[in-house]
Amino acid sequence: MRLLVTGGAGFIGANFVHRAVGRGDEVTVYDALTYAGNPANLAGLEGSPGYRFVHADVCDAPALADAMAGHDVVVHFAAESHVDRSISDAARFVATNCVGTATVCQVALDVGVDRLLHVSTDEVYGSIAEGSSAESDPLAPSSPYSASKAASDLIALSYHRTHGLPVVVTRSTNNYGRFQYPEKVIPLFVTRLLRGGQVPLYGDGGNVRDWCHVDDNCAALELVLADGVDGTIYNVGAGNEIHNLDLTQRLLGLCGADASSIEYVADRPGHDRRYSVDTSRIRALGWAPVHDLDDGLAETVAWYRDNADWWEPLLEEKS
Ligand code: NAD
Repeated sequence: MRLLVTGGAGFIGANFVHRAVGRGDEVTVYDALTYAGNPANLAGLEGSPGYRFVHADVCDAPALADAMAGHDVVVHFAAESHVDRSISDAARFVATNCVGTATVCQVALDVGVDRLLHVSTDEVYGSIAEGSSAESDPLAPSSPYSASKAASDLIALSYHRTHGLPVVVTRSTNNYGRFQYPEKVIPLFVTRLLRGGQVPLYGDGGNVRDWCHVDDNCAALELVLADGVDGTIYNVGAGNEIHNLDLTQRLLGLCGADASSIEYVADRPGHDRRYSVDTSRIRALGWAPVHDLDDGLAETVAWYRDNADWWEPLLEEKS
């Protein structure tokens, strides 16, 4: 299979690309290398048969058309992905997530690819007090990030309805694992704790998230690419719903720290209290998560402990 992967130098994209190249797929990574894109995430792939890296923006239609020609499948990860940044700079999120997705769809239509997988998030459903969001539920995004992702989902699906573009969409819960930029809660907390620092916990720590190991999400994406039905949305969730305080306590334990390392900070504006997705549709395709949360968190903390040379330069860039 010849895959073009947008955002392949980011967290989930890089994990996905390593799996695809490892299987022998021909992969072109197409990435603008924003602060979140890191060539180190793709180390070791240069020289692999069929592997290529294109440094360009998803909003640049001519560059995208050049890069996409000759590919069967597009996996669209590229996005601005951090909620806190969207609160201070929403326009960038609209540019990359909405205009970028429209550009990817139009170029995919022009090139005539066999499948476009648009990678989205459970955050488009907004907060759900009880029960779980089904794919048919109305969208109620709270942040500029989730609003721009909701819009991008609708743009992608409109290309299926209007033009017959073979689009599939996934909406996954929070991912964790190697290569996640240390602004997101798990790598932020782990890198702070490994340096002996404090961790900033929003509000009362009672917000609930469902943590999905990045390899479980990648397996779901691979299955949807292979067997998903065009024009269909697939929720992806691991059934690991825990409070942020519970997550923090697990990370403290894994890093040899205690509750004195928690610094409670003012809550994020518009902070969704709880996400939960109904995963029966993707489970019917044959997917199930295989990673136990405690084992996955221990493996992830060990990765950050063993790879300080990966994250220390990123912390310096931020300061
Ligand atoms: P990330 O922020 O780690 O990586 C984003 C990548 O996109 C980076 O490599 C960046 O350089 C690239 N990029 C950004 N703007 C670009 C542009 N204009 N043109 C080309 N490339 C550009 O993101 P992630 O956490 O790996 O998330 C990937 C996708 O999965 C996103 O669409 C996100 O909304 C979605 N998602 C993420 C999670 C999660 O927990 N991380 C959960 C659900 C869905």
